[in-house]
Amino acid sequence: MNVTKSQHLYSRACRVIPAGVNSPVRAFRAVGGTPVYMESGTGARLRDADGHEYLDFCNSWGPLITGHRHPAILSVIRSQLTRALTFGTVCEQEVVLAEYIIDLLRRKIPDARIEKIRFTSSGTEAVMSAIRLARGYTGKNKILKFDGCYHGHSDSLLVKAGSGLATLGVPDSAGVPASFTAETIVCPLDDEAAVEQAFVQHGKDIAAILIEPVPANNGLLLQRKEFLEKLRYMAVASGSLLIFDEVISGFRVAPGGAAQFYGVSPDIVTYGKILGGGMPVGAFAGRNEIMDRLAPDGPVYQAGTLSGNPVAMAAGLAQLKLLDDQAYTRLDHLGKLLESAFNAARLSWRMARLGSIFWFYQGDIAPRRADKISRDSMKTYAEFHKYCLENAFYLAPSGYEVGFLSTPMTETDIARFTALAIDFFKGR
Ligand code: PMP
Repeated sequence: MNVTKSQHLYSRACRVIPAGVNSPVRAFRAVGGTPVYMESGTGARLRDADGHEYLDFCNSWGPLITGHRHPAILSVIRSQLTRALTFGTVCEQEVVLAEYIIDLLRRKIPDARIEKIRFTSSGTEAVMSAIRLARGYTGKNKILKFDGCYHGHSDSLLVKAGSGLATLGVPDSAGVPASFTAETIVCPLDDEAAVEQAFVQHGKDIAAILIEPVPANNGLLLQRKEFLEKLRYMAVASGSLLIFDEVISGFRVAPGGAAQFYGVSPDIVTYGKILGGGMPVGAFAGRNEIMDRLAPDGPVYQAGTLSGNPVAMAAGLAQLKLLDDQAYTRLDHLGKLLESAFNAARLSWRMARLGSIFWFYQGDIAPRRADKISRDSMKTYAEFHKYCLENAFYLAPSGYEVGFLSTPMTETDIARFTALAIDFFKGR
């Protein structure tokens, strides 16, 4: 494969950008080789700087649920461009998008009573703001999170579990003081006993339980509904809040996200990715009594220069409007085709899937917690990734990352990819 242009760009990048990238996984360290520089995207397809085409299963890490450059999204962006890119003050577009989402959530997840939403420019900011709000609302300090869930790169959430069931977090990055993570408790997923123990030890001071209800940043660790229900119960019983981080699952697994899919209601929910239709957007939302604690009505400070900017708001609204029942049915249909054909081959690798999110894992049983993922399997994934690139399929450059389907994909696309995957994993 001739990747001259990509390699040249990467060597230029390495001189002026740390490791040549603006987000670490992009550097291809987990799969080897050098990053592929992308030039354009159309529907389900990408084109790189050297002219190769790929079917895109990364979809910018989730936002592009209707593929690249959907005409309806481009059209509202173009029309917004003739008026302004940003005002740094209030505009109609943010009101319209907020109304649209609140109405959608009122219909899809009525029990959660999501009444207000505030926009940010990234998922990291959304979750960081949500935990500050939970602390400000409850007057408590600790956050309980789960090993294997990612919530962005804010200091107190960059933690790894210590040894033991429910442990105080240990910084997982240089530059994060231990005192910053001392208020974060880490439990394994899928383990009610560990959560109970955390509440026995710290219950009075736990402001919130924070979870990706569809953990999709460390493999796809699908949880039992009963586990999510247990979290709901524990939060109510101890006066803590339940925060669902739906930055990936929001608007993807259902219009009302995992909360709708599992029928479990969070107190605060965070969104990102799909919500911006390809532009940088995040958001957090909840009941009036919680959200009204935010500045300037309440004492919890939170802000953003580009928050609610009209281009991103217009793109987000156009994106959400495209997601009708037909879109979800289609995505689920494509997902079923992929999963059933791959798993029917009865190989030593299987596929876990929820709707349009999929993940290849080694073994017979889909892991539900981070420590059940085979580390050795990552070497095989690296080979698979290379094989896919050579055969015109673009997957995320790490075996811990999931794949995303998009609506412009066809049954033929899926059949070709399934055949390639079966061919590769056969005999491994
Ligand atoms: N939460 C979850 C569940 C995520 O998947 C991500 C990003 N992958 C984030 C938060 C952080 O979002 P961002 O990268 O937009 O800051």
